[in-house]
Amino acid sequence: MITETTSGNRGLLQAEPLIFESGHATGTGVDLPEPKGTPNKLGGLGRKAALDLPGFSEPETMRHYVRLSQKNYAIDLGLFPLGSCTMKHNPRLNERAARFEGFADLHPLQPTSTIQGALELMDELAHWLCTLTGMPAVALSPKAGAHGEFCGMLAIKAALEARGESHRKRVLVPHSAHGTNPATAVAAGFIVDEIEGDEDGRVDLHDVTAKLGPDLAAIMITNPNTCGLFEPDIKKIADAVHEAGAYFYCDGANYNAIVGKVRPGDLGVDAMHINLHKTFSTPHGGGGPGAGPTVLSAALAPFAPVPHIVLKGGTRELREHMAGTQAFGRMCAFHGQMGMFTRALTYMMSHGSDGLRQVAEDAVLNANYLLARLKPHFTAPFGERPCMHEVLLDDSSIKPKGVETIDMAKALLDEGYHPFTTYFPLVVHGAMLIEPTETEPKRELDRFADVMIALAERVNAGDVEFFKQAPKLTPMRRLDDTLAARQPKLRWRRGANDSGAKVAAE
Ligand SMILES: *Cc1c(COP(=O)(O)O)cnc(C)c1O
Repeated sequence: MITETTSGNRGLLQAEPLIFESGHATGTGVDLPEPKGTPNKLGGLGRKAALDLPGFSEPETMRHYVRLSQKNYAIDLGLFPLGSCTMKHNPRLNERAARFEGFADLHPLQPTSTIQGALELMDELAHWLCTLTGMPAVALSPKAGAHGEFCGMLAIKAALEARGESHRKRVLVPHSAHGTNPATAVAAGFIVDEIEGDEDGRVDLHDVTAKLGPDLAAIMITNPNTCGLFEPDIKKIADAVHEAGAYFYCDGANYNAIVGKVRPGDLGVDAMHINLHKTFSTPHGGGGPGAGPTVLSAALAPFAPVPHIVLKGGTRELREHMAGTQAFGRMCAFHGQMGMFTRALTYMMSHGSDGLRQVAEDAVLNANYLLARLKPHFTAPFGERPCMHEVLLDDSSIKPKGVETIDMAKALLDEGYHPFTTYFPLVVHGAMLIEPTETEPKRELDRFADVMIALAERVNAGDVEFFKQAPKLTPMRRLDDTLAARQPKLRWRRGANDSGAKVAAE
């Protein structure tokens, strides 16, 4: 196999150094005359030495970023099995709507009389979210799932304070929770108390009941949970928690598995964020922007963050105060992610409520198809029963042969796939979490399953070295994760660092 070329390029994939290495101080895409006759008003504070910023001409700029973009993996390239992230297709119709001037070219400080359409769209989105979840209110402004969790927990805190019960500080979080759940609880000023899972990978009702008490503020549960299973005792848990005077926060990141089928409001949920960028198909991966609107029960609705959208005499207004409410504050400077609202509502309206129900059914069907194909070749910790929208495997059958989850993930890179989620949830050692989503056709599911099965067969054939060498075909070979975590290089210095573009070609 050719892994080294003179140019460092691989086929038509171009090697590209860091912009700081290839850019040059004099490089620029514009040619302006030196300004003449403008007095220097910096009072002697002007920079003495040239600013060491990399400059590029226009074609160099284009090539730099296009080369970088070609090193990316994207949902538009292929199946993106990253569990818990719901990497589904982003319909182009959403993109079209999000680019309409009336939505895209707004300024958040524009007079509300000039943004009536945008406010109506936000109201309509709120209506869909409340209807789908069976909840009376929603705060649209949180900008990510984690931000939505923070919003929900701050509403819970405000509700407890209003009841004169701010001594309630303890929040129950299952061991299997996404890391954002305990982090959010702590950031909002609570103390985390871990609850155990039972042997079926679900929250242990007995452990919850044992841990109720007068200092309990809330419980945070993901449903379907991070093992890809529906929590069957969810209503009993909600009732017990309410009985104890606490609130039920539901992590709604896995809502894709139940949208249109189950209304979280009927399960006793008090607050739940919805990742528009997961369930409602707005693009993500690469750092955002996301959107995490948070639905609230009647008990928490009065504490929702501002602004409120109020319809009065046929006109919509943004209000900071509303009679009968005690908002805990605001989540961000303005009103949230308009582009994501537009995309999500377009997605909802183009599917209709029946179509959204089918989203959940097909997401679960696709996951179960993959589970059925992969189960004979890997260990599926809870695989005796059907899963929801995610397939949870672990490396217990391959590890004794010398190949671990990380090696499987690296081998997948050479096969042209973004890896599945590795080592999460933490309750399963060597977890491989695969979420195909409803938008993968059977042909793609089969291609992916064929690759996974071929890799399992390679493990059985004893070809451990193949896995330890992987990835061979990526711009960068395997990195030393431990060293990178222990001694991170956080600063680039001229001459001191090397991008490794050459190293990668070795
Ligand atoms: C994605 C996810 C989150 C966090 O959502 P962000 O939008 O990434 O902040 C929380 N919990 C679970 C289970 C998730 O999958």
